[in-house]
Amino acid sequence: MSSESTLRADIVEVGRRMYARGYTASNDGNISVRIDAQRLLMTPKSVCKGFMTPDMMCITDLEGRKLQGDRDPSSEMLMHLEVYRQRPDVQAVVHAHPPTATGFAVAGIPLDRAVLAEVLTTLGSIPIADYATPSTRELPEAVRKYIKAHDGMLLANHGALTVGTDLFGAYYKMETIEHFAKISLVARMLGRENVLSREEVTRLQGLRGTYGISAPAPICADPAEALGPGPGAAGAAGDATCQVVQAPAGDGRRLVLELTRGSGPSADGPQADGEIRLTYRELSALIDDAVRSIR
Ligand SMILES: [Zn+2]
Repeated sequence: MSSESTLRADIVEVGRRMYARGYTASNDGNISVRIDAQRLLMTPKSVCKGFMTPDMMCITDLEGRKLQGDRDPSSEMLMHLEVYRQRPDVQAVVHAHPPTATGFAVAGIPLDRAVLAEVLTTLGSIPIADYATPSTRELPEAVRKYIKAHDGMLLANHGALTVGTDLFGAYYKMETIEHFAKISLVARMLGRENVLSREEVTRLQGLRGTYGISAPAPICADPAEALGPGPGAAGAAGDATCQVVQAPAGDGRRLVLELTRGSGPSADGPQADGEIRLTYRELSALIDDAVRSIR
């Protein structure tokens, strides 16, 4: 385990990078890391993450009591504490508002399509935790639903959260989420986002083991299980136990085509040739409806 002075310097460096890359504005965002089994090192409240110094950090226990530091700990401390409670393997937590990923969080669109191999092997899927008022007890409750099965998530109308077995690992996941969000946005603007097949997703998941990539949970075997009204990919307590990835089954060649709205007469509804094209999610929802009406 790194020394406390190294961890202080690492938090400063990660804060500087987040601010430089535009993941935070003003005093947004927060960072924490385990010092040992009982103590956390955390960014303080109301400071710009781009201009921190090592002496600014707070030390708290796992209940959030301040043990050391001139400043108060982050206003999102409760969210960090919840992550450490739920994930003994996690050593560091990073929260920021990267604009493209946060745009998806505002639009209510999870980053859960099977698009990029490096995302599937590392994060799997990136769900959206329900909206909760920042800095209140609602936020850790919203995060709890997904944190056992995911190393990264969007926070509805707020930002993104990533965790890791070390601080830079958590930070790099934040980079991956924002990078993925940018690529996905460009693909959608271009009018189509080709999605990898479920078979390829299975192959990529196998690479996790080959390359020793730690993932908190497997990709759900059946994505439809998370689309229905039942508990879906959730355990008895309603917490996710696997990662939902939208990928079509079949010959591996099927493409999900999304037409850009307003791009022509075929932008919505039936196409010019009379064919109706549906996304995988829409098709699954239709099948679910049909099954329910049969029952
Ligand atoms: Zn925030």
